[in-house]
Parts: sequence; C-alpha cells; structure tokens
Amino acid sequence: MLDFAAALAQLLAQARRAQLTEQVDLKQALGRILAHDVIAPLDVPGFDNSAMDGYALHIPNGDLDVNSYQITQRITAGTVGQALATGEAARIFTGAPIPFGANAVVMQENCSVVGDRVQLAYPVKLGANIRRAGEDVRHGQVVLSAGQRLNPAMIGLAASLGIAQLMVFAPLRVGLFSTGDELIEPGLPLPVGKIYNSNRYTLFAQLQALGCELLDLGVIPDQFDATVNALSEAVAQCDILITTGGVSVGEEDHVKAAAQYLGELNLWKIAIKPGKPFAYGRIGGADFIGLPGNPVSALVTYLLLVRPFILARQGATQLEPQRLPLQADFELSKAGDRREFFRARVSASGQVSLFPHQGSGVLTSMAWAEGLVDVPAGTTVQRGDTVQFLPLTALEG
Ligand code: AMP
Ligand code: MG
Repeated sequence: MLDFAAALAQLLAQARRAQLTEQVDLKQALGRILAHDVIAPLDVPGFDNSAMDGYALHIPNGDLDVNSYQITQRITAGTVGQALATGEAARIFTGAPIPFGANAVVMQENCSVVGDRVQLAYPVKLGANIRRAGEDVRHGQVVLSAGQRLNPAMIGLAASLGIAQLMVFAPLRVGLFSTGDELIEPGLPLPVGKIYNSNRYTLFAQLQALGCELLDLGVIPDQFDATVNALSEAVAQCDILITTGGVSVGEEDHVKAAAQYLGELNLWKIAIKPGKPFAYGRIGGADFIGLPGNPVSALVTYLLLVRPFILARQGATQLEPQRLPLQADFELSKAGDRREFFRARVSASGQVSLFPHQGSGVLTSMAWAEGLVDVPAGTTVQRGDTVQFLPLTALEG
C-alpha cells in the first residue's frame, strides 16, 4: 500500500500547469487563478483624507492647547477644499481630502460649535484621524501574486486600484463519468437492487465550485467494451477525466482494464481510510483519475487528492489544506493500519467530536461533518489529546 503523502506528492509531480490564460472582468473573477502578479498602479489611499466626520484643524505652530478655531469651509467626500490658514478649521466628512495646512482632524463628538467657531472638548494629537496617502498600498507594490485564487477581497483590492480586468488561467475542461449497472438517476423510479447515483452529483458540485468547465458524461455500464468506448471518446474533449467506481479488483471493475488498454495507468492502493483504490494515469492528452465508488471514499479522495491536483494543474500555488490543532472529544482505543480521515464537527469550545458511523458508504457522515480529523496510522487517541482538524470550508469550492 502507498503512503498518502507519497501518493499526493506523485500526483502533484504529474500536474502539468495550465498555459492558456484569459482576461476576465472583475465580476467574473471569483475563484479564478491569477496568471500574473498584480502591481499597484497608484497609492491607496490616493491622498491624505479624513478618517472621521469632524473638523480639520490648522493648529497654530503645533500648539495643542489652542482649543477654538474659526470654521471657514466645508469639505465633503469627493470635493477638494482650500488651504487652511493658521487657526482655521474646515467642516470635513469621512473620506474627504485633508486641505493643505491642516494637521489634525477632531471628531465631531469631541467638540461643539458656537456660531462660526468650533470649540474642542479635549486637546487633539498632531495627525489625529488623518488616513495618509499610500498607507494601505504603495504605487509599484505587488498586491496579488500569480497563482493566488481570487476571493472577494482580492477582487475588491484590484477594483480599488482601478483595475477592471484580471489575467487568469483558462478553466480546465474536466469530464465526469459514473460507472455501475446498479445506478439510477434521481427523479426516476428505483427498481429492486438498484441505487440512486449520488457520486455524479457530489462531484459535479465540487468541480463546479472549483470553477472547472464541466462535461457531465453520465454513466458507463459495467462492460469492458462500453468502458473503452466511453473513455476514448471522452478524453478527446477534456484535460482531466474523472470516473467513480470500477477501480477495485473484482471482475465487474472494468475501468482499470479499459484505462490500461487505452493509456498508462497506476493503480494505487493508498493507505487511507476511507479511500484505498485510486487510479491515476494518462489517456491520450488527458489526465485520468479513477475514484472509488463508495460515496464517502469518492468524496474524501476527491478532496484530499484530486482537488489539489486540479488546483496545481490550474496554476494555483496554495494547495495545502488548512489544519487546526484541536482537542479530541472522543477516544480511539484501537490504532488503525491506515491513515484515517474521520468525519467530525467542532463544538463552540473548540472540541472535536466524530460522527457515530464512519462507514465509507455513509454519506450522512459527510453531510453532517464540518471537517475531517486526520489520524495517522498506528495512533490511538485519548479524550483531550490534540488532533488535526481539516475544515471542509477550506476544502470545498
Ligand atoms: P465499486 O467501486 O464500483 O465496486 O463501487 C463500490 C460501492 O460504491 C458499491 O456499493 C457501489 O454501488 C457504490 N457506488 C458506485 N458508484 C456509485 C455512485 N455513482 N453513486 C452511489 N454509489 C455508488
Ligand atoms: Mg461498480
């Protein structure tokens, strides 16, 4: 059996990075992977501005004891005021440019207005409540790096710099097959002995959230010829072809034989639970990945192996899942012989508990889980021990 870390490393070593790039508008950029660094074309803020609604003051000779100023102008956000003479104040609003000569802003809550004068309740500090030009971003600074996956804040940052489009990698075309004569699509009546196809929908949703260009290719029956035909037709249209089921060693498992017949295939028995059978290879120009059929195995091996592979292939640099060291609210008295990823939840106090039924076909465990607890082979866990928790929020999408 192959160690999980070795399997992931081998897989990532095969991830040929995408070359095609395209410009997208900011509103189409969510989840896409940047193809170039973004360099700030200007300072943010672009000018010194007021952090508060209040009064900009020209403090005479820096004398902080002066507490009464004559109000000579009003500066709203988006307008530009006149220079302030010594002892003068400008009514000013948040985001409005600081007028020349002003050296502090006093909050409106800390002063009172009598006639055309503003009276300070407390002395101010020089420079108070002024947001300085370039204090967030400096012109010429690298603000986003190639390989970053764009989130809403990154998109907003680009917008704040006046950048309307970003250069990202073109989406990978990913084909998805389910295999198995037992599979019936949801919405149809269920004959005796059949089951509803769930992998097609969990994986479709995962790949959709990852921003792939998806080819949903349906179901392949458990026959060698049909599998060969389906795979050979599909690889011509995709960068990555993913199947579920049919990679075990039974005589009804035809995916392995068909993929070997058409291309190169490594069949890995990865020492993880759930999971184990996992196939990686190349058919034609496409990467081929055969996931296990059991719904939890398919989903967990997707999250831990296929997702980082696709992200790397797509040009992303951040591939490691987030890991949180948390306290176990469970016990494992028997050490496993494989690294195990348990379906788990976190309590408000930060303690991790496990779903009671961890079977590889129990999809309710995944629907319930907030994350996976990563327990190395040969390890027991006592209540109160620190365990590694991988939040699903950081693994999905
Ligand atoms: P296999 O790897 O093809 O032997 O499948 C292992 C188990 O997963 C069997 O119980 C299958 O019925 C089940 N399975 C395979 N494919 C799917 C699917 N698409 N949706 C739900 N269960 C599946
Ligand atoms: Mg099968």
